[in-house]
Amino acid sequence: SREIRLKSRPVGVPTQADFELATVEVAAPGPGEVQVKNLWMSVDPYMRGRMYDRASYVPPFELGKALQGGAIGQIVASNDPEFAVGDIVNSMFGWREVFNVSPAAIKAAGGAMGALTKIDTHGLPPQAFLGILGMPGMTAYAGLLRVAALKDGDVVFVSAAAGAVGSVVCQIAKLKGHTVIGSAGGPEKVAFLKSIGVDHVIDYKATPDVVAELAKVAPKGIDVYFENVGGVHLEAAINSARPFARFALCGMISQYNETGKPVGPSNIIQAVGKSLRMEGFIVSNHYDLYPAFARDMAEWIKAGKLTWKETVEDGIARAPDAFIKLFAGENLGKMLVKLG
Ligand code: NDP
Repeated sequence: SREIRLKSRPVGVPTQADFELATVEVAAPGPGEVQVKNLWMSVDPYMRGRMYDRASYVPPFELGKALQGGAIGQIVASNDPEFAVGDIVNSMFGWREVFNVSPAAIKAAGGAMGALTKIDTHGLPPQAFLGILGMPGMTAYAGLLRVAALKDGDVVFVSAAAGAVGSVVCQIAKLKGHTVIGSAGGPEKVAFLKSIGVDHVIDYKATPDVVAELAKVAPKGIDVYFENVGGVHLEAAINSARPFARFALCGMISQYNETGKPVGPSNIIQAVGKSLRMEGFIVSNHYDLYPAFARDMAEWIKAGKLTWKETVEDGIARAPDAFIKLFAGENLGKMLVKLG
């Protein structure tokens, strides 16, 4: 079996040389263990944060060890009566093809190893549980409906709008009847966002003065900003915010590889006079919403109100590439790696 290890801590944008493909022997599962063959793994922007050696809400990745991340796999051998061969499971043991683990040990670790969860796919492709029906979908749902407290009439601005999280934010806001403005890089993403009903799309690569562009397409201002990017996008949102606008600070990907002083908004003073509320959040603190999320998403998908895109790299050797491509915007929708 093969796995991807972190070889060195990236400086700036990660490169191939920061990763290492290794081959390991995976024995038959021991007492109480199951063996899982991964079918799909996720690469996510937050993983960049774990590559720095610094304290954060998740511990840093260790050098020379397999990386971790969301994965969908299938049980191929089991010494645990709760898991049967053929079961589809969600875990945090991505970046490897096959692994043995004791479900009891995962439970005992109380979240430190993630969870091993059986999935009923309801006939949907299993990898959807790494995207729209998984962590990114939950992030969109909790961030928009709880953190930003979306209410009738709100004009919503979303950055990285064509990505895994952003595209779900746009669609939930649209199906609830809102005016939505999305920002993304390049004509393919613009066309996709228009196809899902986004009212105005800013191609920030074609027109980098996002402050001016947003002011143009939202002459009356915005009430909600779903922040994925930071920098000039945050400055634009502050500039166009109406009084009492709410900002859900989900991520600031433009700063994850920054080696110098990051570009911040120069107009933060407007937050005072406009009485803005800016709230950061981490999706893992909002899983009490999971039952509501699962119910609403199922209903919206059944009604044909939600769609999703995937960008797929083939084979574990391509996983570092898939990850690096996130920072060049080479994904439309969820970036995934197909294994097995
Ligand atoms: P995406 O699928 O949106 O992929 C990342 C996208 O970010 C790229 O496709 C690219 O789109 C855009 N991007 C990359 N670099 C830049 C840049 N320098 N300037 C502007 N845009 C850039 O990823 P996710 O949906 O998984 O994540 C989106 C955001 O949500 C990230 O900030 C992530 O960290 C955050 N997040 C936060 C969570 C939380 O709990 N708070 C949980 C999950 C995600 P484009 O071509 O448009 O530039």
